Amino acid sequence: MSRGTGRVVVVGSGVIGTACAYFLARDGWQVTIIDQGDFGRGCSHGNCGFVCPSHVLPLAAPGVVRSALKGLRKRNSALTIKLRFDPALWGWLLRFVRRCNAADMLAAGQAIQALLNSSRDLYPQILKREAIDCEWQTRGMLFVIRSDAAMEHYAETDRLLRETFNLPSRRFDGKELTDLEPALKPGSAGGWLYESDGHLRPDRLMSGWRQALERQGVTIHTHCSLSGFAGSGDAARAALTVQGEFPADQFVVAAGAWTPLLGRHLGCRVPIQPGKGYSITMPRPALCPTYPLIFEEHRVAVTPMRSGYRLGSTMEFAGYDTSLRRERLELLRDAARVYLHEPYTEPVEEEWYGWRPMTPDGLPIIDRSPAFRNVHIAAGHNMLGLAMAPATGKLIAEMLSGQTPHVDPAPYTVRRF
Ligand SMILES: Cc1cc2nc3c(=O)[nH]c(=O)nc-3n(C[C@H](O)[C@H](O)[C@H](O)COP(=O)(O)OP(=O)(O)OC[C@H]3O[C@@H](n4cnc5c(N)ncnc54)[C@H](O)[C@@H]3O)c2cc1C
Repeated sequence: MSRGTGRVVVVGSGVIGTACAYFLARDGWQVTIIDQGDFGRGCSHGNCGFVCPSHVLPLAAPGVVRSALKGLRKRNSALTIKLRFDPALWGWLLRFVRRCNAADMLAAGQAIQALLNSSRDLYPQILKREAIDCEWQTRGMLFVIRSDAAMEHYAETDRLLRETFNLPSRRFDGKELTDLEPALKPGSAGGWLYESDGHLRPDRLMSGWRQALERQGVTIHTHCSLSGFAGSGDAARAALTVQGEFPADQFVVAAGAWTPLLGRHLGCRVPIQPGKGYSITMPRPALCPTYPLIFEEHRVAVTPMRSGYRLGSTMEFAGYDTSLRRERLELLRDAARVYLHEPYTEPVEEEWYGWRPMTPDGLPIIDRSPAFRNVHIAAGHNMLGLAMAPATGKLIAEMLSGQTPHVDPAPYTVRRF
């Protein structure tokens, strides 16, 4: 096993860049993180905090195109696409549609599961070793289903998860569900509990992990945007930024949804679209859910945290749109009202949006860039960046240090596009 002996610049201080920096520093590399904004304030800040091995299935699945088209006809549905002249978006949609079949879904599911399972094992070890208090809980995840038809439909998905992905669950029908989770109103058909899932408070994870990085000697430069690389032949020599040059031996680009904007410097097209989602963080209601919840038909998630309570979700393909749209936030409240006795509280602590880095096949890119042999890409973690971060960081460190990878990196190659 070889160890890192040189300098690495990691571009992006989201959960992926942070995890890469962490494992690289532990391997002996001298690590610098640069970020165009503040540390950890991209998509990794206000997400739902689910560390969820149950979420193995990608968005691209049989039947999704039909239900998405139905949703698009509705005003303000959970999934929206701002149709416009944008070849990158149309190319992405075409690739996505081609992946909406059982064989591709199952293949992607296996590759997603490898990163989810490894990360689920790694999180408690990292949090304990670094004494990070991010309200880590292991209560599992409760999928709540309103209608009988959806309950039966979901039973098929659950069977697939159990039989193909070895994911056990417990089924609760009618009143059994409200006995389990009294914060829910009566009237839902039932639910499914996945006990292996965990959850945490993402902003506290990011601040605690930052402190751990600084203890390890990682240097962090914020408001430091990467504009390209200096180098000769197939080797980069320095990262070029608004704060000057950062010379290094290796570089990792973990720029989340912004990564395609750097494609020219990476020598490839990066088919990542920003998939905008929203969250609202509030004080805990008096009758707060004890389980993290997913309202399956409304596609809305509830995260009960020790220090607060969060509603999150919706998916909007609207490019790099920075507006905080009230009607999208209201969708979260509207859904919560259907299911919960106390759906929201005041005062609101934060209303937030983030751009999920969406690839058409649901898999991240964890690979060497085609332009430079010493520039790696770790981006495109879709709806699961938090849940896949430790395994991604570990894999990147293994690639850079020439160690045997602990998960097969082949499915995450950038050359698949
Ligand atoms: C509403 C919502 C709920 C979610 N819930 C969950 C969940 O429960 N579980 C889960 O696993 N995932 C969840 N996600 C998805 C998850 O948040 C993302 O997959 C993850 O945060 C992506 O991490 P990242 O580090 O790749 O990107 P980011 O956190 O966005 O970080 C990328 C960083 O790169 C920086 N950057 C970009 N370009 C440059 C440049 N040129 N120079 C320097 N820096 C640059 C940015 O400033 C940013 O800080 C959710 C997302 C949303 C929107």
